Amino acid sequence: LFAGETDFLKGVVAMDGMPPADRLEVCFAGRSNVGKSSLINALTGRKALARTSNTPGRTQEINFFTLAEEHYLVDVPGYGFANAPLPVVEKWQRLLKAYLSGRPSLRRVFLLIDSRHGPKTADEEIMQLLSKSAVTFQIVMTKVDKLKKGELDKVLEKTKSVIKKYPASYPELVLTSSEKGEGIPTLRHIIATLV
Ligand code: GDP
Repeated sequence: LFAGETDFLKGVVAMDGMPPADRLEVCFAGRSNVGKSSLINALTGRKALARTSNTPGRTQEINFFTLAEEHYLVDVPGYGFANAPLPVVEKWQRLLKAYLSGRPSLRRVFLLIDSRHGPKTADEEIMQLLSKSAVTFQIVMTKVDKLKKGELDKVLEKTKSVIKKYPASYPELVLTSSEKGEGIPTLRHIIATLV
């Protein structure tokens, strides 16, 4: 699946701009700065496919990429805006909710969580929304290279106890480091079996 080209298809700012839901897709979501661009770039083997940005909320679009011309990989830009004006945040939240809860071809949401921080309120809001909409999500821990084993184990335990509360959660966590390449083949494999 990842041996072929992954290409940018389009950025969408409203539901009526979405490509038709005629093929299976997976989505990547997470708080700003969680390491989502780095992960998508590592997965697809393309350095600058998803823009790596340290400016929270710079991109307000849902970005569609084609996977091997058969599927979509969808990048939902980071939530948790510190500096954006309220109307922008609200418009964005509406679009995010509409997409996450109303996309019939959405197979699974990969919810990225920074290993250093564990799940935050904003993450739990998404877990709640996905559970209400019966969209399965799976947690991807990012930047695991930044933690010692003992620290990581603690965060994993905490994360597992949080996701248990949400019926749409997939129990298995994926541990990744885009920097070291850890977990990338595993994640590719999971996506390949899903679509
Ligand atoms: P995004 O805002 O979620 O797209 O996050 P980015 O991919 O732009 O990453 C945010 C910051 O975390 C950048 O400074 C990255 O270099 C850093 N980062 C991302 N992934 C990793 C990782 O696996 N390990 C380490 N050590 N740093 C990472």
